[in-house]
Formats: sequence, C-alpha cells, structure tokens
Amino acid sequence: MGDEKIYMIPVNDAFSVDCECAFCYLENNFEKQCLEIVLGESVMEVDSRLETNKKGFCSRHFHMLLEQKNKLPYGLMLETHLHEIKTNFEKILSSHFMLLNFQKKEGFLKRILNNHTSKEALLNNLLQFLENINSQCVICERINARMKNYFDVFFFMWRTKKEFQQKVLSSKGFCFYHFCDLLKFSQNHLRSKELDNFVEKICKIELDAISRLYQNICEFNKQFDYRNANNVVSFEVRNSLINATEKLGKYK
Ligand SMILES: [Zn+2]
Ligand SMILES: [Zn+2]
Repeated sequence: MGDEKIYMIPVNDAFSVDCECAFCYLENNFEKQCLEIVLGESVMEVDSRLETNKKGFCSRHFHMLLEQKNKLPYGLMLETHLHEIKTNFEKILSSHFMLLNFQKKEGFLKRILNNHTSKEALLNNLLQFLENINSQCVICERINARMKNYFDVFFFMWRTKKEFQQKVLSSKGFCFYHFCDLLKFSQNHLRSKELDNFVEKICKIELDAISRLYQNICEFNKQFDYRNANNVVSFEVRNSLINATEKLGKYK
C-alpha cells in the first residue's frame, strides 16, 4: 500500500496479524494504551482529570487498573473519584432530609419512615445516581470512539484499496461482537451493490472461519477417545479451544 496515510497504518497492520479478529487486536492494543494514559493522567493536577473523577470506570476497567504494576497512580485516582462520589452521595441525602447530623441514626431512620413521598423521591435520586456511576466508564468511552474511527478507516480502505480488500478476505474473519459492529457500520458506509457485495464476501469468510473452528474442536474432542491416543494432533487443533473462545467471546 504505497499511498498509505498514517491513520490507515494500524488498521492495515492489524489485518496482517494471524488472529481470529483484527478488530479485537486493535481494541486490545488501544485498551492497553488507555490504561497507561489514564494512570498517567492520575498523577496530574486534580483539575486536569475532571472526567475520570466524575465518571469512573466499568468493573472490567477498574479491575484492569488494579492489576497494573504501579499502584500510586491508581491510588491517587481512587482518592479523588471516591471524594467526588462521597460528595454527591452526601448532597442527595442532605437535600432530602436536611440532616445536620448523620450520626444520629435512629432519628434519621424515623424521619425516612414517616415521610413516604420523600422516601420515594430519595430512592429515585439514589437509583439515578447509582445507575450513572455504574454505566459510565472513561476507558470504554475512549475505546468506543477509537473503534468507530477504526471502522471508518476500514470502510474507506475497503472501498478504495483492492489490496486491503484481498487482505481482509484472506483473514480468519471476526469475533462475533465485531462481526456484528462491522455489519451495522457497513450500512453507513456502503450503498446498494457495494453493500450487497461486502455482506456476501464477509459472511463467506465468517462462515468459513466458523466451519474451520467447528472441525478443529471436533478433532480436539476426539483426542480424548483412547482409540485416538496415538494420533498426531496439529497445532490448530491443539489451539482450537482458545481460537473458538476468541471467536465467540471477544478478546479478554
Ligand atoms: Zn473482535
Ligand atoms: Zn470500561
């Protein structure tokens, strides 16, 4: 690809990798970058990481951040994020009960039980607050935006570069998550005949990939039959559990 632009390189390179899904490869790499960037940002001034303080992360990314080697950046990030949560939580509670003293538990509970409307409104606000916290993730948002870019580049290259098309068609297809995304995005990028042609070709390589994995899994399972104990098992068959999992379950 002689006239390759810088933004095309990652997508083009991903389709040169021998894997079950080039988009998983891209997403996995970008996710690693995001983890590093977010932890890098956490050692900066509090003001410069307002987004992280406010939104936090999904459970997957909280746990991935926890597993990173350097603990201080994560600790700093948690410190300000927890402070933000605590402040907002207190605001919701105090706006309902105008409580001056949260420590007086008995009086607090009595007031809740005596005021039905206030209780319902409190519950709604709390649920809204918790749903917001649980549904937002700075890393997921960045990944989604980046993946959308990668799909844009994919379709641009698919339409304009025959070599790239060939590369895609000789790949092993896509995991089912990205296969679904790919078909969804194809409707925004391709028209009538071009779209039909794309869907037909992509479905063919996807079906080939599934058939290949199915065969390999069958072979894998046959090994456990004592009559096949001496059979030589190919690399593809030995790896078939991993490959099938990647195809069906996205990267981990
Ligand atoms: Zn994938
Ligand atoms: Zn996330």
